[in-house]
Parts: sequence; C-alpha cells; structure tokens
Amino acid sequence: NEAENVESGGEKLPPLAGANVMNVILVAAECAPWIKTGGLGDVAGSLPKALARRGHRVMVVAPRYSDYAGAQDIGVRKRYKVDGQDMEVSYFQAYIDGVDFVFIDSPIFRHLQDNIYGGNRMDVLKRMVLFCKAAAEINEVNDFQVPWHVPCGGVCYGDGNLAFIANDWHTALLPVYLKAYYRDHGIMQYTRSVLVIHNIAHQGRGPVDDFRYTDLPEHYIDLFKLYDPVGGEHFNIFAAGLKAADRIVTVSHGYAWELKTSEGGWGLHEIINENDWKFRGIVNGIDNKDWNPKFDTHLTSDGYTNYSLETLQSGKHQCKATLQKELGLPVRHDVPIIGFIGRLDHQKGVDLIAEAIPWMMGQDVQLAMLGTGRADLEGMLRQFESQHRDKIRGWVGFSVKMAHRITAGADILLMPSRFEPCGLNQLYAMNYGTVPVVHAVGGLRDTVKPFNPFEESGLGWTFDSAETNKLINALSNCLLTYKQYKQSWEGIQRRGMSQDLSWDNAAQQYEEVLVAAKYQW
Ligand code: ADP
Repeated sequence: NEAENVESGGEKLPPLAGANVMNVILVAAECAPWIKTGGLGDVAGSLPKALARRGHRVMVVAPRYSDYAGAQDIGVRKRYKVDGQDMEVSYFQAYIDGVDFVFIDSPIFRHLQDNIYGGNRMDVLKRMVLFCKAAAEINEVNDFQVPWHVPCGGVCYGDGNLAFIANDWHTALLPVYLKAYYRDHGIMQYTRSVLVIHNIAHQGRGPVDDFRYTDLPEHYIDLFKLYDPVGGEHFNIFAAGLKAADRIVTVSHGYAWELKTSEGGWGLHEIINENDWKFRGIVNGIDNKDWNPKFDTHLTSDGYTNYSLETLQSGKHQCKATLQKELGLPVRHDVPIIGFIGRLDHQKGVDLIAEAIPWMMGQDVQLAMLGTGRADLEGMLRQFESQHRDKIRGWVGFSVKMAHRITAGADILLMPSRFEPCGLNQLYAMNYGTVPVVHAVGGLRDTVKPFNPFEESGLGWTFDSAETNKLINALSNCLLTYKQYKQSWEGIQRRGMSQDLSWDNAAQQYEEVLVAAKYQW
C-alpha cells in the first residue's frame, strides 16, 4: 500500500519484475549523495533503488573523485589502456537499499570533486574512455571478458538478462564498446544497452582525429563523424552512442519531442529521428526519502521542522520563518519568498530573472537564490544582494542543505529555463507544497499543469516563451493568488503534495524499455 511504501522508502515492496528480472548496470559520471553537480547525480542515486525494489539485481558504476563515505576498497585491481598508457584502477563498493554502488578509482579521477567535468578536452576524453572501459570490463583488445568481475554477490541471470544503462555523452562510449568488443565477436549477443539523454547540449565534440583515443577498430569512425554547419565535420561521442545503443530514453515527453527538432536537437536531431523506433521519453521520478518534507534530514535541526500534508500550514510556516532568519531576511509570514536553485548559466534563464528584478523589487516579495556557475552570473547574484539586502539573498555556492531548506521554506519556486530536459527542482518544490512558476518547456511543461481558477485545478504557473515580460506576467498572477486567494493557494499546494512523484512508475517504464530491447531489436 502506498502509505507503507512511502513510510519505508519503498523497501517493503515485493519484487514485481517477475519473469523479466534482470541484472542492470547503470553507469554515470556522477551519483548522489557522493558526487553531484545536477539532476544526473540525483537520477543515478535513485532510479537504481527503484529498479531494485522491482526485484532486479542492480549495480551503479561511477568514478571515485574523492573519498566516498561508506564505500570500501574491495581489493580488485585491473589495468586498462588509454592513449597507449596502461592505467590501473581499483574498485570501491557500498551496498545500499538493495543496490551495489561501485566506484572506480584512478589517479585521473581524483581531486576533481569541485569540477568533475573540468580540464582540457583531451583530459576529459581520456577520463571518460577509462571510465567506460572499466565499467564494461574491457581489458585489452582480444581479451574478451564478460562483465561483471567485481564480486558484488547476488544472482547473475546470465548475459541474456544483462542490460547497461548509460547516461549522457560521458558514458555514450559504453554502448559502442559493448558492440565492438563483445557483440562483434559473438560474445554477450543478448546483452542490451540503453542510452539516456539528460542533456543534449554537451556532446563530447572534438576534431575527427580524437577518434584514435577511443581505441576502437578503424571502421567505427563513421559512427562518430558528424557534420553540422557550426562545427563542420567533427567527432561526436553522443552521436556514436545514440546509433550504437539498443534503446534511447530521454527524461520527459516534452524534451523527447524537442530533441527531434532542429532547434532542440543541437545537431543530433537527424540521428534521433532516424532512430525514433528505439526512442522514448520517461519522466524522472524523485527520491521519496531524500526529498520528502516528512523525512528530510536537512529539516531536523537549526529550527526547521519536518512536515506533511496534515501539518502543511504550521510546518511550512516554521520552515519559512527559520529560512528567513538563516538568510538574514526580515522574518515576516505575509511576504512571499520566491526561490531559485540551479546552475547559473544561459540554460537556466538567470538573466531573465535579472531583467525582472526591478519589477520584483517594486513588489512585496523576498527572493532567495542559490547557485553556482558562470562567474558573471555569480557576480550578479552578489550584486543583487548588496543592492537589496532587505529583499534578496543571493547565495553563491553548492549546498545540498540550503537547496532542501529553500525548497521547504520558500512559497514559490521560479524556473525560467530556456530548455529543461526534465527538471527536478519543480518536482521537489511540489512535493514540499512550494508552488512552481516555470517556462513551459521540456519536462517543465510535462510536469507543471497550469493553475485554472475556474476549475480550481493545476499545480503552478507557466509562461510560454523565455521572455522577461512573460515571466513577470506569470509571476504577478501567482503573487495575486498568493495574496488574495488563500484557499486556491492551499489547493495548489495540496495537489502538488498529493501527486505520486516517486520513481516507482518511471522504474516500471524503464523495465519495459529493457524488456523490449531484449526481445525486439
Ligand atoms: P540540471 O541537471 O540541469 O542541473 P535539475 O533540475 O535536473 O537540473 O537538477 C538540479 C539538481 O542539482 C537538483 O537536485 C538541485 O537541487 C541541485 N542543485 C543545483 N544547483 C545547486 C546548488 N547551487 N546547491 C545545491 N544543489 C544544487
């Protein structure tokens, strides 16, 4: 039953996968709570647990960028070749909520925790080559080994029931390696790979000559070659992964549609259209233990409090007052707090918020912004704060704790993203009774049904193009409802909190994709 499921974080659910039970290895460049820069980390930390709850035997493989709490060295040493150099890796493991989290340790991953995608193009490429080789257990040419040699225990259902889930360009080499090193040689013919697109804007582009670092047979070069008017003919890892994977998933239906257009596909739309038969949108879920106001561990101290639908008003009231205190804003219950959490870049539309600031400062509102990213936008946050100390707190930094506290204490969450593959913050916001105001794009359009005052339906406010006046228009309607129509406001909050945003539904859809890949290709 649902209540019990939420209560226990879902662990008591019986295995549901039945005859389709599989070994699933999810491979990602980041994984919460150990290392996260954005939504990919959250997904890698939580989707696998939902797949495990369905009865699958699930492993996550991620790089070990620093000491990870709770992960032990299991003593296995392997060597992989990257750019002609022999590199030794070791493996660390943590078994949590039915999932083996395996971290690949190598000097080239270490000390990157503040900037895991940093370094020059070659450095990043070499890291991803090593990571994908180690994740697929590809030792050296003609030494074909079958994954998975790290002894994590559990049942092995055979290579016909093994599927890899790769994520974004960082691990898009993995489906290619599976083909080139195994399937082309008659090994693991039935092992499947799924490539998930979390963000198409980063593709692993370089000159065609970069191909030599991949250590693949020469004829594989065609998979990587892409021509577009901006870059001319170039090397493109995402392109190769999309072609080689047995299935492609992206993180919402809206984004699935956008990826097929020339504006939304960023040069890869043709490949996606050609592979439409194996392409599907599945909206991300959220971790209902971590991001649940009832259990949130960041709300148990410093004056914050856990709350639920039953204690929404008093709980949120307390979290709001505590947030105002912690941020140094005037403690007033009647003033709405508008929150923003995210990477400070063009994608997230921070500049639209900047343009709306003069209007906002004419309203009775408080603004709590948390983010890191582009230096000029970080400077802008600091400047807003110093110009409007009684109304704006611009917190430059990456703080998971503050992200949770703003989500709980704010009344409104603003997401004016220019594009947004899924977006998790609006889902977290709704789970906490915080009302989203979003640009209706990608996953934001899928998940935030606009408020309809005549029907008393809907979950927030949307605007249909990334323009400041549209943002202002949506936000002013939202503020009007907040100030004058308390019952409608509470209805929106309650509908948001009553949704099932957990991973269980999405995990079932991922399972359908894995099963389809097994039987139809
Ligand atoms: P994206 O993956 O494009 O960055 P998402 O909305 O999918 O965007 O996920 C963003 C995740 O990163 C959320 O969990 C959010 O709370 C977190 N996050 C983003 N910026 C910060 C920050 N400055 N401090 C803490 N968490 C952050």
